[in-house]
Amino acid sequence: MSGNESRLQAIYQITNREPMLVDKPKSLNKIWASDVFNLAKMEEALSKNAYKSIKKTVQTGAPLDAATADVVAAAMKEWATKKGVKFFSHIFYPMTNATAEKHDGFVITSPDGSCITEFTGSLLIKGEPDGSSFPNGSLRMTNAARGYTAWDPTSPAYVMQTDNGATLMIPSVFMSWTGEALDKKIPLLRSNSAMNDAAQKVLKLMGEEKVAPLNSSCGAEQEYFLVDSNFANSRPDLLLAGRTLFGAASAKGQEFDDHYFGAIPARVQVFMQDFEDKLYRLGIPAKTHHNEVAPGQFEIAPYYEAANVAADHQQLLMTVMKMTAKEHGFLCLLHEKPFAGINGSGKHVNWSVGNATQGNLLDPGTTPNENLNFLLFCGAVIRGVHLYGPLLRAVIASAGNDHRLGANEAPPAILSVYLGDQLEKVYNDIKDGKLEAVAGGGEMDLGLSQILNFTRDPGDRNRTSPFAFTGNRFEFRAVGSAASVSGPLVAMNTMLADSLNWIAEELEAELSGGADKNAAVMSVLNKLMKAHGNAVFGGDGYSSEWHEAAVKERGLKNIPTTADALPAFKEASVKTLFESTGVLSAAELESRYEVYSEQYILSIEVEAKLVVDMAKTIIFPAASNYLMDLASTHSGMSQLGIDFDKSSAESVASHSNAMMGAVAKLSEALEKEDFASTEAHMQYLAKDILPLMNEVREHADALEGEVSDDMWPLAKYREMLFIK
Ligand code: ADP
Ligand code: MG
Repeated sequence: MSGNESRLQAIYQITNREPMLVDKPKSLNKIWASDVFNLAKMEEALSKNAYKSIKKTVQTGAPLDAATADVVAAAMKEWATKKGVKFFSHIFYPMTNATAEKHDGFVITSPDGSCITEFTGSLLIKGEPDGSSFPNGSLRMTNAARGYTAWDPTSPAYVMQTDNGATLMIPSVFMSWTGEALDKKIPLLRSNSAMNDAAQKVLKLMGEEKVAPLNSSCGAEQEYFLVDSNFANSRPDLLLAGRTLFGAASAKGQEFDDHYFGAIPARVQVFMQDFEDKLYRLGIPAKTHHNEVAPGQFEIAPYYEAANVAADHQQLLMTVMKMTAKEHGFLCLLHEKPFAGINGSGKHVNWSVGNATQGNLLDPGTTPNENLNFLLFCGAVIRGVHLYGPLLRAVIASAGNDHRLGANEAPPAILSVYLGDQLEKVYNDIKDGKLEAVAGGGEMDLGLSQILNFTRDPGDRNRTSPFAFTGNRFEFRAVGSAASVSGPLVAMNTMLADSLNWIAEELEAELSGGADKNAAVMSVLNKLMKAHGNAVFGGDGYSSEWHEAAVKERGLKNIPTTADALPAFKEASVKTLFESTGVLSAAELESRYEVYSEQYILSIEVEAKLVVDMAKTIIFPAASNYLMDLASTHSGMSQLGIDFDKSSAESVASHSNAMMGAVAKLSEALEKEDFASTEAHMQYLAKDILPLMNEVREHADALEGEVSDDMWPLAKYREMLFIK
């Protein structure tokens, strides 16, 4: 279709759309986790002993014995086949942000030609996809491409219902034949256990007698855009890159702030209800949804869960969201910046650590001892962010997130911690030795309970901070909307493990030197704050003053692009961090650097090629057609002797020329192949290719503002954002 025909068609389709019918809402207790083989279902299906054994595995990660595995597998198959399931799949989480699955049937044949189904414990526990084409850095040569998947029993199996049937999904880890982690789940499990080991030491030193295993928790708020598929289908950039590479700003954008928390459009409401019912069936606790700041932008936040389960659920949520959106005639965009000039999307990762005996260690609590524990754990986070800020920046780095970070809507690319006024004062007083004076034998309260309770006020928030304390957890706000939460969780758990190990050593030294517990804690925290207090910042993170002061006065790093951020994986301190905690070996870390760099390189190269293609085959032809019209009008007018405005024709001609000039430069720049290193390649894309893409876009967007609306072929911002 030429001209604006495809746009008119799209608008026609949308306005004449039959309302989507969804099932009548079912009550929550009818559908909750109905497709999950959770502990409750196992209790029904298994003998007392088998149940006891699997429960221990689920709750503590203790190894599963072969006999129990067989019994569980049989019960799982029985449950699943009743739901019409014929296939099972070990679902795993490769180093990309995606999920991967290979499906196998339960079917086997017997000698008489009839078929029976089989699912043994060993099939449940271990699968063997030929993972040769999953990005693995250089961890596995393709000729030795055996990758193993193994069930992670701490994350329950479930049935994925699609139009084409139902599949039993088994959340799994993915490792090489030599046992190296090829996925995002293994490091997450290891980081939890490193954090637990370190936390145990600290809590024991603090005199806690019973300390249950600690686990981290995660609640992720997911922002996304919905665009009608009719528009999306006419935009190659949305389809292939997930964002608009062209598009002039709409006269109305988000400046009225009328979308945020506004009434949810009826069609979107129907989508959300359908989507959330699907999540409930899968045992994903969808809790909050609302409009976001930008038109067409929304948010969903499930209730928090154990980090490992939350991470699997997050991946599943993204899959189900995209799938359901499609059924409702939407394209769901998870890109961090689908539209220039309006807010992009993030994923706020809320994170805390705790256990059954001490509760949430990032919750100030009510007794003096709880307060001291809290101050240590929170202090450990401060130290972690200060020491490993560049790592935190690296784990959220992606080509998409670069468009959002540091712009005036999202946290800056400088990692600092926000504590809230009250808590910041507590730590500063500790740093200045002011709280030390109060200490001195006996139980010490410091009036902290009151102070710390005050900081729980959710109004006391700083939306400009990348890493904020929000009363009983930290909120890592700089994570990108398309990202897996695993990378950030691994980094946070591991830096916490490292800091708690440091704290344990220091505490032990103080205590064995004869200091009482209060004085020991204050002394350790005083030392910690003197060394790492520079990471604490409560002001406006968007301001240019901060950007300057952070670097010059605080010695923090401003790391604007992924090309600058990813090399953090190669830093000696980061290698030591991961090796000493047992979370990632040097080779595993290196492979992550390689995979993430490659992803960055590929995504920018795809976009750049698309810019060339769309400019040449869609935008330039539209501009020339319009120019041809103008030219014939002009010559007609001059024959009639009528003076006629030429400015538009001149502008279209000059922007077309300039655009094609930039296209030529970009095409040539894309030819370059000989890079000294991966770093150099990434820098080239960030510093040479992206600016050329922007140069093409600048002229193309100017053309959109000149060319007659009925000749413009690409869906416009105002249409994609406002027509639902
Ligand atoms: P916001 O005001 O930041 O938008 P929301 O209520 O939308 O807050 O989301 C907060 C998220 O934090 C939810 O997923 C919630 O379950 C999660 N959360 C709450 N308490 C904790 C905790 N202790 N640890 C981890 N996540 C938590
Ligand atoms: Mg939030």
